[in-house]
Amino acid sequence: MSTSNFKVIIVGGGPVGLTAANALSHAGINFVLLESRPNIVIDAGSNLVILPMGLRLLGQIGLLDTFNAVSSALGQIQRFDHNGRDLGEVNFFVHHKEIHGIASRVVSRHALTQVLYDALPASAHAEMHANKKVRTITTTPSSATVHCTDGTSYTGTIVIGADGAHSLVRAQMRALALQSPSTSLDQINEDHPFLTTYRSLWIRFPTQADLQPGDAKETHGVGCAIQLFAGEETSVIGMYERLDEPTKDRLRFGPADEEAFIKRWGNLPLSRQLTVQDAYDSRVQAGLVSLEEGVVRNWSWERIVLVGDAAHKFTPSTGAGCNNGMVDVVALVNELSRVVSSQEAPEMDTIAGAFKAYQEKRFAAVVSGCEGASKATATATWKNKVFKFVDLHVISSHRVQKYLMHQAAPKVAATPALEFVEDGQMPEGKVPWVQSAVLPRAVKA
Ligand SMILES: Cc1cc2nc3c(=O)[nH]c(=O)nc-3n(C[C@H](O)[C@H](O)[C@H](O)COP(=O)(O)OP(=O)(O)OC[C@H]3O[C@@H](n4cnc5c(N)ncnc54)[C@H](O)[C@@H]3O)c2cc1C
Repeated sequence: MSTSNFKVIIVGGGPVGLTAANALSHAGINFVLLESRPNIVIDAGSNLVILPMGLRLLGQIGLLDTFNAVSSALGQIQRFDHNGRDLGEVNFFVHHKEIHGIASRVVSRHALTQVLYDALPASAHAEMHANKKVRTITTTPSSATVHCTDGTSYTGTIVIGADGAHSLVRAQMRALALQSPSTSLDQINEDHPFLTTYRSLWIRFPTQADLQPGDAKETHGVGCAIQLFAGEETSVIGMYERLDEPTKDRLRFGPADEEAFIKRWGNLPLSRQLTVQDAYDSRVQAGLVSLEEGVVRNWSWERIVLVGDAAHKFTPSTGAGCNNGMVDVVALVNELSRVVSSQEAPEMDTIAGAFKAYQEKRFAAVVSGCEGASKATATATWKNKVFKFVDLHVISSHRVQKYLMHQAAPKVAATPALEFVEDGQMPEGKVPWVQSAVLPRAVKA
């Protein structure tokens, strides 16, 4: 790592925190990563679809082959209604391959985080600590210190909050902003910035019966929709159920809620041979979670900045939450790299300017991604007659699918790439990736 005095403290070792560790390592910027769980890489959580925007980063940092070995390429999505009637196929992933030269892939959270962890050098591993639950953050004019529940503390130049939807870092940013006499109202984030309209039961189970790795299937209908992605060993389903009333409160669910959920929807079909109940009975893991949605207004305060689910939360219907978090990291580390290579000890104003530029580069794309995911969930759960009509008669048209993917293509091709790394292994499709100017890495002192 760098010998510069600039040091980043990453709070959270999920997929986005580990992406940040990789990007900072490539930029030659020192960091320490703190994760509250007992291990940084754990076998837990739903599988994730990684879209071309996320794959671009993996390609740039030379991880595509390793990633491909632990993930499965996705093809056509087959759709059914609650009674198993065919609703026609959706070719979004097929168009991704044609347009961007690369198919979206499904991976377990465990395999993704393992790939990101293993890619780091031993010197970086020495700076990554599990069992470190951050409790508070204090700042001075020249540093930020995070304090953990075990009494340890870590001081750095900035703090990156990659600690998920219920972010402690975001809460601390708010507390510090409220304490400051010069804060204006629009600099203070809401205490509960996300709205929950849906909950999701996800189930990971062995790939079995009529499922093949790479299969993608959806079940649509009033009140509940399901997405299924089959991997080599395990498949995952995410079920989306509308709540009676949207809420900003944090919801927690127990085993009784999970059982009641299965009682309501266990008979829904997943494929010609499998039902939800079959998947649940053979589950490797399952979890009932609330699906918060929203974009936090201010992503930074003084020396603290947010990335990933700490800054924005999407419903998983478009498989975009984690992908957008990875792209946040790219945009942020590009800004940090410029700051560190131009100044030995950047002033607070320079850091604030970098954080502002980062948010400006990402905000509109993230708001639009969040709205798109929300509409996709409303469409699949037939929220009203209009959404049902769109699902049955508009989205099912292959010409509409092709049009939508080609409309989105220029924005995907222009996804920010790391400016200090040559574009590596990326395959090209009909719409070439927009290259970033390659800048020098952070200057080492
Ligand atoms: C059912 C389901 C399916 C999904 N499918 C997809 C998909 O297909 N594609 C996609 O792009 N996204 C998907 N998502 C969204 C994706 O899971 C998130 O966007 C992603 O996990 C966000 O990563 P993150 O690192 O920002 O946060 P998290 O994954 O929440 O990780 C945060 C980490 O911070 C740690 N932490 C929290 N608090 C502290 C603290 N105080 N101190 C230290 N450490 C702390 C946590 O232990 C955790 O390891 C899905 C989500 C769900 C629920």
